[in-house]
Amino acid sequence: MSTAKDPGTKSPGRAIPWTLLRRLVMLAILGLFMLQYFEVKLLVGSLTGSTLLGQVKLLDVFAFIEISAAAKGVSLIMLTAVLPVALLYLVLGRAFCGWVCPMDLLFSLVDKLRPGDKPAQPPLRPQAGYWLAGGLLLAALVTSLPLFTNYLSHLTNIFRTIAGGVFLAADLPVEPAVIAWSLLTLLALLILQYFYPRFWCRVLCPVGKTYGLFNQVSLLKLRFNRGDCEGCELCEHKCYMGVKIVRNLDQGKLRDPNCIYCGRCVEGCRHKGRLIRMSLK
Ligand code: SF4
Ligand code: SF4
Repeated sequence: MSTAKDPGTKSPGRAIPWTLLRRLVMLAILGLFMLQYFEVKLLVGSLTGSTLLGQVKLLDVFAFIEISAAAKGVSLIMLTAVLPVALLYLVLGRAFCGWVCPMDLLFSLVDKLRPGDKPAQPPLRPQAGYWLAGGLLLAALVTSLPLFTNYLSHLTNIFRTIAGGVFLAADLPVEPAVIAWSLLTLLALLILQYFYPRFWCRVLCPVGKTYGLFNQVSLLKLRFNRGDCEGCELCEHKCYMGVKIVRNLDQGKLRDPNCIYCGRCVEGCRHKGRLIRMSLK
């Protein structure tokens, strides 16, 4: 860690409320999806696959890979749908997890239920998730079915649950088994979160693992200024993705596949954005 003084980093800056901002973005995106149930078709579908403004098809990157593996080929429609998403996260890296995925919000609510004692660390190393993703792709090849995307994905199941709730409220027919399955898979993730905070996101989730690969090349990254780091590690305590920040301060920047660009480390640091910052440059 650096102890060199840099007068250029000492001026008091206005701290950006990253957590508030990303909660607003998350809720706004969810709100846009919710409008489809009120006949306002700005964003139709789910975070797995959707249509923007009736024209632009969007497809999650892992869903694209898994569906292509199951179909043993790539369709032009899917390719044009995944490209805008891939381009976006080539710029923003794994920001999908910190700014878009509603599980982040649900997991934060579960955190509030847990007693204050130190939560358990994930029982597996982050690399295990790549094996899981590889296994799911192999299963798709063998079964010709995108098992994760169709049945297990939290993105698919959240939207099925929401749609089921809206349909029930409107007295429209629903498939009880589908709703029950979606609820069960979500409940399993919430229970996992209670006992092993962010185990799903840090280690297992194939969607997050895929976007994590984009962090290696994305424009968005964590940058570190030379400044007065006291080694308090408040930034790392705030990081629920287990990213090792302090040991990398001297590197000037950090590209960790588990960083979701949530900004909690920036907020947690006493120097409020002057030592650690998120940067597109
Ligand atoms: S890792 Fe998965 S569940 Fe976690 S925020 Fe990212 S996409 Fe959502
Ligand atoms: S390193 Fe910072 S921005 Fe990245 S996940 Fe951890 S707290 Fe969030």
